[in-house]
Amino acid sequence: MTTIYLKPKKEESLKRFHPWVFSGAIARVVLDANHQNAAPDEGELVSVRSAANEVLGVGHWQIGSIAVRILAFGEEHLPTCFWHERIRAAYQVRQAIGLIRPDNNTFRLIHGEGDFLPGLIVDVYADTAVIQAHSVGMHVFRNEIADAIIAEVPQVQHIYYKSDDTLPFKAPVEGDRVGWLMTNDKRPMANDLEYWSLENGLSFRIDWLRGQKTGFFVDQRENRALVERYASNKDVLNMFCYTGGFSLYALRGGAKTVDSVDVSQKAIDLVNINVARNFPKATNHTAVAADAFEYLTAQKNAGKTYDLIILDPPAFAKHRDAVKNALRGYQRINAKAIEMIRPGGILFTFSCSQAVDKEAFRLAVFSAAAQVGRKVRILHQLHQPQDHPINIYHPEGEYLKGLVLYVE
Ligand code: SAH
Repeated sequence: MTTIYLKPKKEESLKRFHPWVFSGAIARVVLDANHQNAAPDEGELVSVRSAANEVLGVGHWQIGSIAVRILAFGEEHLPTCFWHERIRAAYQVRQAIGLIRPDNNTFRLIHGEGDFLPGLIVDVYADTAVIQAHSVGMHVFRNEIADAIIAEVPQVQHIYYKSDDTLPFKAPVEGDRVGWLMTNDKRPMANDLEYWSLENGLSFRIDWLRGQKTGFFVDQRENRALVERYASNKDVLNMFCYTGGFSLYALRGGAKTVDSVDVSQKAIDLVNINVARNFPKATNHTAVAADAFEYLTAQKNAGKTYDLIILDPPAFAKHRDAVKNALRGYQRINAKAIEMIRPGGILFTFSCSQAVDKEAFRLAVFSAAAQVGRKVRILHQLHQPQDHPINIYHPEGEYLKGLVLYVE
């Protein structure tokens, strides 16, 4: 196996179980005999040692500033049954936190570093798991991972692989970046009218073939439940609604009206399907395909106001260098929403940009409130749910944050 030797003292973060080795920490690379190139192959398993030749761990080699992502600390090779053991442990956590129930079969099974599997995301929707590889190393092991999921997670019978948007764009990979890995004749089709995934008793159609991410935003489950608590008798706007997660909870919570808005017509079609399935008699829901800024401006000019607004935009900053613009974007969109809230109304506002930390996000929302000149108090500070755990040694895993504001 190829061995990576670190510079002196660069082993310290690995000894504290931080799973990344940055390229600047590497003193030299000793390739094993199978190499034609002068460097390890992207996705190759490599062994990492300190300057003093201590075994630190085994992980995936990557081209870029994060050179190795450690899978097993203190090991030179991947232990036998590695994938089964990691997946079983992750499933046990989801059982222990009460996510596997007759009325809930939608959950994140593997959350990358948070489940000690850097580069791997797995979401489960009823009997289908969707695997997303963020590294070539995970792509290489996709079939082993699929086997382990089938063996360890009783509800899963089909595995869809969806890594077209997440694998490094230029990486040469063998095999398809999307497609079924494991299925049988009865495999569910995304347009199958009988195929539904349940979240807290609400049914959702999940389009893993064409949908965003793995098909659904599992990470808002707990925050949606909080919207349900506040929705009674309110006029609600769910902005950036995607397939209508927050809208369904607001309707169940007794909202007077719910308006769902998203720029994607495909998402809006799914919102309508989901509302019709859960609330076939509802006449108080409308779904509109529109740009958020344009919609808010037009509604405001028409004198429209709301009691409760949810703002859950896509990540405005995908990288650190985009943070400044992202903060301006958050300020602008939040100012527009705060302006449209009736006195005594509530705003749920989120950021899923990992690069924008919670202090910076709060400052952007503060600036929005100050700009509009409304009296605003924070009722809740929200974050990602229990099936998106943060490895305490890898604080970078924290990405979702939200504020619930009371607007006078
Ligand atoms: N709240 C959703 C997830 C939102 S993801 C849920 O609970 O499932 C962000 C959404 O914003 C995506 O569906 C995307 O289509 C939408 N979006 C992106 N840019 C937009 C824009 N300019 N105006 C309106 N919606 C937009």
